[in-house]
Amino acid sequence: MEHIRCLIIGSGPAGYTAAIYASRANLNPVLYAGIQPGGQLTTTTDIENFPGYPEGINGTEMMDQLRKQAERFGADLRSGIVTGADLSKAPYRITIDGETELETDTLIIATGASAKYLGLEDEAKYAGMGVSACATCDGFFYRGKNVAVVGGGDTACEEALYLSSLAKQVYLIVRKNYLRASQVMQDRVMNTPNIKVLFEHNTLGLFGDNGVEGAHLVKRKGEPDEEKVDIAIDGFFLAIGHKPNSDVFKKYLETDEVGYIKTVAGTPKTNIPGVYAAGDVADPIYRQAVTAAGSGCKAAIEAERYLSEHGL
Ligand code: NDP
Repeated sequence: MEHIRCLIIGSGPAGYTAAIYASRANLNPVLYAGIQPGGQLTTTTDIENFPGYPEGINGTEMMDQLRKQAERFGADLRSGIVTGADLSKAPYRITIDGETELETDTLIIATGASAKYLGLEDEAKYAGMGVSACATCDGFFYRGKNVAVVGGGDTACEEALYLSSLAKQVYLIVRKNYLRASQVMQDRVMNTPNIKVLFEHNTLGLFGDNGVEGAHLVKRKGEPDEEKVDIAIDGFFLAIGHKPNSDVFKKYLETDEVGYIKTVAGTPKTNIPGVYAAGDVADPIYRQAVTAAGSGCKAAIEAERYLSEHGL
């Protein structure tokens, strides 16, 4: 069985940054790219808030550069998906694609999180053309325009408030007749003049010839008095929650009720020595490329310390 000193799972900013640091520290890291090589950023358009890119950079291009940077220092980058993990004792055993078994002294889990979508065909049709799951990433492109945010939790309220300072009009599409968000967030939303909350509304589809130009909604779906309404919007933002990609490790690692891997505050350390979690899989709060990259760096430094302390 192949023995690895530092195995990194995931190829977003956390995974690649861990690979850059680990390879420069001679840990001979192996990185498996996972289901979506390059991670969530490959589904956004331009990234304008990552330091060092004054003109902004396309998400796919940025991930390509991170990949090349990791390769330059000798990281072994492979395609494959983790399908099994035995973290009961070190070295830890990992199964790739249901067949290849590896053992590793240290493990950096950077498998990210996936934004939840409604499941409408139009979400895929208009991906990158008006549909987004990240207001902080894409809100800037909607200055002075009309947008809608779907969801009634804290994320949806936060995204609606963020967008309200950029966009002309923000619709908050809420399926129930109340918001689930904390009271303070609800109050802020209700007191913002350019946010209109559409309670008991569901989205049926989107329309537009050159990107999103509007959404077909239905009020009180399924009730005899249901009512169809169209709204004119340029951007459609999903904020109905994220799912951290931690299922395969859950048997061994402590997670919160949603599935985010718990780490020791301020570090990427999990409850298992030598196993680290970096990026969105362990971050329900910030979820930014730059914070993910920072935690990937920390994870590689911790892996290096662990290996040297254990003489590995
Ligand atoms: P939540 O699970 O809290 O809320 C999801 C929202 O999306 C709910 O309003 C839910 O509706 C709605 N929703 C889910 N599926 C659909 C669907 N198919 N169609 C329409 N609406 C749907 O997720 P959040 O991401 O908002 O928050 C996650 C956690 O993070 C929470 O604990 C939250 O408090 C916390 N958080 C805290 C922040 C802060 O304190 N600043 C900021 C952001 C998040 P319904 O209510 O009907 O189920």
